[in-house]
Amino acid sequence: MFDKLFNPKGVAIIGASQKTLSIGNVITKNLIKYEYKGGIYPINPKADEICGLKAYPSILDVPGSVDVAHMSIPAKFAPMAMDECGKKGVQFVIINSAGFKEVGPEGAALEKKTVEVAKNYGIRVFGPNCQGIINTDPEVKAYCDFTFTFPEPGYISIVAQSGGVGAVFMQNIHDLGVGMRFYASNGNACDISIPEILRYYGDDEKTRVIILYVEGFNNPKEFMDAAREVAAKKPILAMRAGRTKEGAKAAASHTGGMVGVGLSTELIFKKTGILTFQDQEEMCQSAMAFAEQPVPKGKRVGLITDTGGPAIIATDALVEAGVEIPPLSDKAVKILEEKLYPEASAHNPIDVLATGNAGHYRAALDVLMDEEHIDAVYINFVTPPFVDCESVAKEMAAVSKKRKKPIVCNYMTDKPQWTGTTAILKDGNIPLYDYAEMAAKVMAALTNYNELRSRELGEPKTFPDVDKAKAEKILQNGKDAGKKMLSAAQVYEILGCYGIPAADWRTAGDAAAAAEAAEETGFPVVLKADSEKIVHKSDEGGVALNLADAASVKAAAEEMEKKFGKEGLQFFIQKFMPGGGKETIIGAKAEPGLGHTLMFGLGGVYVELLKDVSFALTPVTPFESEEMISSIKTHKLLEGFRGDKGVDRKKLAEIIQRVSQLVTDLPGIEEMDLNPIIAYEDGAFAVDARIMI
Ligand code: ADP
Ligand code: MG
Repeated sequence: MFDKLFNPKGVAIIGASQKTLSIGNVITKNLIKYEYKGGIYPINPKADEICGLKAYPSILDVPGSVDVAHMSIPAKFAPMAMDECGKKGVQFVIINSAGFKEVGPEGAALEKKTVEVAKNYGIRVFGPNCQGIINTDPEVKAYCDFTFTFPEPGYISIVAQSGGVGAVFMQNIHDLGVGMRFYASNGNACDISIPEILRYYGDDEKTRVIILYVEGFNNPKEFMDAAREVAAKKPILAMRAGRTKEGAKAAASHTGGMVGVGLSTELIFKKTGILTFQDQEEMCQSAMAFAEQPVPKGKRVGLITDTGGPAIIATDALVEAGVEIPPLSDKAVKILEEKLYPEASAHNPIDVLATGNAGHYRAALDVLMDEEHIDAVYINFVTPPFVDCESVAKEMAAVSKKRKKPIVCNYMTDKPQWTGTTAILKDGNIPLYDYAEMAAKVMAALTNYNELRSRELGEPKTFPDVDKAKAEKILQNGKDAGKKMLSAAQVYEILGCYGIPAADWRTAGDAAAAAEAAEETGFPVVLKADSEKIVHKSDEGGVALNLADAASVKAAAEEMEKKFGKEGLQFFIQKFMPGGGKETIIGAKAEPGLGHTLMFGLGGVYVELLKDVSFALTPVTPFESEEMISSIKTHKLLEGFRGDKGVDRKKLAEIIQRVSQLVTDLPGIEEMDLNPIIAYEDGAFAVDARIMI
């Protein structure tokens, strides 16, 4: 698909210039410096020669074939230049120039026109307002980009919407002494999209791991489809743009604006199986391990160390990062006791001692590779000047090359002195880290990735016992009446249509009717003021709990009439649910182009206090609904604690799925809150519900 973009036979630079501080000049120089294997054709009507190469007045004058043309000219000339590219038979045009959509409507029109010209010729456009692509393949060496890092060939491919961020990743990886395969930063993405580039990387055999940076999605659906497909083939590591904490958003859930762009990006990543990072360095350091080592099958880590202190720090860091350090089998301990020094520790962490030699390391490595309940190996290696470190490194490299289980190494040395040892380890594809903490984080990234990929999401369940047509009609009625918030009766009827259990309820227009309605539901009841003006009913005195008879209902209703005025006030009468339940919350918020974000948490006051909530994107599968419940920190409270009985988690999971189906069927729902749903040992009931349209 993009073969000619990444493997061009000839590259033209329209707008190449002799001015050293110009993009056209830099691209020309980069192609020369990186020793691009194809023809380089600077295009400039006013120059005969640029950077020592013959320049051509027009791309039509170029003798050889041109697969990729750069445009580094004022935006207004782009349509005309595109026409010439078409006549020349160019397949891909990288528009580096800015001045398009990003500057406003005029630029957007220019961008549209340029793409139209391209389409007529079947040209695919990359950019505009972008860096370009790089292919490190020694046979190609295409540096169609104006950045400054000259990467070695490798297995990591980068795709970044922002060239600035992409360049940081590229340089960081280069600094780690790791190679790169492809680079692409496509700026405005007027034609060639990030999902398409992802797919291309997915099909590329030499790309082992993909680094992704996106800030938003033109078409979230297209992205999710591509991401799911590619993530099934190889690891995709991505940065989360927008570092706002979910918790802060949860707190804001009462007043709306529950979920922001940053969070939905992360949920898209999770749903499609992309590993998300919060930290650029951690992601690049992890990419090195993903490129060089296999993915572990679990999170049980065996440690080998030759120094005590760093092993303690590493153990803390690993455990905190969520991995396990299980004891070794008796058989393993016995082997180690025979093969290591008598003072060595034959347990996990295995301490071969500072004087441990190559044979000791090999024995420890072999034992860990053979232990069935060990999934990965973490080595703490300080290079003692009194040990033959190169021999030790050779054993590590030999074991690493078998690629049986991943190895990461906290490598403590003076690299300029221990060049031989370092080279052997690098050659053995062992990712080396200066600090125990970073090595531990990378190990956790590997195990987290395994966990992420092992989740069997399954398919969302469709409940047949729903009345979609009726719910749609209620929503439409609300819309027709110009409402932003549905009335309580409308909301609870919609819940009824979707089989979402709620405490038995009635509505009433005045105090006398309220008392009558209460007789019907049976006492004790709750009386609530129902008006579009009242958001937090209990804060404003609009909730009267546990009313035992008709007289107290009437009195409470009259009180509310006094407080709020009769105008626009309705009463909502609800069965008072007995104590002993736990208040939970389920919320939904529309995400344009995506569906809805669902939220689950411990309800009422706890949501705002603990900010302990979980999120998922609709449609939610049974697996995801369970995961939402089990991933809140206080989920143990739902399971029962110290004699306290747990709650009906199955029912809660079902309600989450029913809400998912409801908001998917009725995309006009902007926001929905069930807060609280009171959950009991057997059953769960919504007692407060809001729907905003
Ligand atoms: P709001 O959230 O608008 O203040 P709610 O309807 O959620 O009003 O009522 C406030 C609190 O009253 C709930 O969080 C719950 O603790 C309690 N409550 C409300 N309705 C019932 C009910 N039917 N049975 C038992 N408790 C209820
Ligand atoms: Mg409430």
